[in-house]
Amino acid sequence: MIDIQDKSQCCGCGACVGRCPQACITLTEDKNGFLYPHVDADACVDCHLCEQVCPFLNEKEKQETLACFAAIHPDETIRYRSSSGGVFSVFAERIIGHGGVVFGARFNEKWEVVHGYTDTLEGLTAFRGSKYVQSVIGDSYVQAEQFLKQGRDVLFTGTPCQIAGLKLFLRKDYPNLVAVEVACHGVPSPGVWRNYLKGRGDVNEVHFRDKSTGWRDYSVVIGKQKRRHDDDDYMACYLTNHNMRESCFACPCKQGKSHADILMADLWGVKALPSARDDKGASAILAYSNRGLDFLQQCGLELTAVDAVSVIRHNPSINGSAPKPKDYELFWKKYSKAPDWTLKRYGSLSFTKCVLRLKRMIRKVLK
Ligand SMILES: Cc1cc2nc3c(=O)[nH]c(=O)nc-3n(C[C@H](O)[C@H](O)[C@H](O)COP(=O)(O)OP(=O)(O)OC[C@H]3O[C@@H](n4cnc5c(N)ncnc54)[C@H](O)[C@@H]3O)c2cc1C
Ligand code: SF4
Ligand code: SF4
Ligand code: SF4
Repeated sequence: MIDIQDKSQCCGCGACVGRCPQACITLTEDKNGFLYPHVDADACVDCHLCEQVCPFLNEKEKQETLACFAAIHPDETIRYRSSSGGVFSVFAERIIGHGGVVFGARFNEKWEVVHGYTDTLEGLTAFRGSKYVQSVIGDSYVQAEQFLKQGRDVLFTGTPCQIAGLKLFLRKDYPNLVAVEVACHGVPSPGVWRNYLKGRGDVNEVHFRDKSTGWRDYSVVIGKQKRRHDDDDYMACYLTNHNMRESCFACPCKQGKSHADILMADLWGVKALPSARDDKGASAILAYSNRGLDFLQQCGLELTAVDAVSVIRHNPSINGSAPKPKDYELFWKKYSKAPDWTLKRYGSLSFTKCVLRLKRMIRKVLK
């Protein structure tokens, strides 16, 4: 049975929970606010199914990227509201247009991030935009399996480890599934996010990638407050990898070991699309399977072939794990005693923050 001794070896994907025939695994938050599985040993029948679906115990063989493209959503408004170039919405519209179901991450009424599904175009709005909090997968794998068995097309989107969890959970290949992962820098703690929102009064809006200050220099909107991304303490701690899950420093789904058909990312640094020089966002798409390639052709997107090596060089999260900060443990020790102060100390008052400020000034001068 699953027994997590080393926290770097569990991404909290929940595949073990969904697959256990005894329903004796539950995910509970640790002191840092991340979910980890706990087994009721009395109910466990030692079937080992949980181990067979765990992404850390079943890493994929390395594979080649089949193709790499740059693209944008043709609708300016949808592209502007998306984090990158809006290709997620293109994929989702295609699936819904053919009677299928789309899974993704959205906020619930408490501004927690949870996975869910929709089969309407209106329902897509909630999935649009990156939420920099680990999403709770809930029953999504079980629900996706039911739709697949009914023969409906399913687009499942999530972090690479959530896609790995889904594929291993399913245990067979469904031709009606398209699995799409986001490039993943890592995921911050849901507990830290919950604490951060406390004391901010009634929050009626959250947007982690507000483009009113530009796609590159995006802002974070929480309620009435809008801050440049590196001026927001929660976001600054994420960008320096402090409030991030430990498994993200040893990600099992990078370096060509993705379980997805397609990866979508920001097209940082590669000026392949003249139509996207307006700083409103552009997407990079990596195809990892023939199904992914076929699906891209069916979507009717204008695809511009780009060099995968350049795309990855400008966007190291696609292939590599983030480095663990030297003071990672110290951060959590301080956070447990003084959460707000610690986020500030490692956020707006940090040395890194000053460096980021300086970089921004240099960029402005160069412009
Ligand atoms: C935690 C996280 C880290 C990321 N790190 C990078 C990075 O380092 N480099 C990079 O180029 N791109 C990164 N991305 C991906 C990027 O921000 C865009 O999500 C992606 O390019 C798709 O953008 P879009 O414009 O096509 O559509 P959008 O509408 O912006 O994308 C929405 C998609 O993101 C999914 N999503 C949103 N929040 C979450 C979440 N918390 N967990 C799982 N899925 C989620 C939705 O389900 C949907 O599929 C990250 C995304 C997330 C969520
Ligand atoms: S070994 Fe089987 S019964 Fe025990 S926790 Fe794992 S999946 Fe559940
Ligand atoms: S990585 Fe996923 S499947 Fe493995 S133990 Fe953690 S939650 Fe369970
Ligand atoms: S970096 Fe890897 S382990 Fe961390 S959330 Fe992303 S896919 Fe999962």
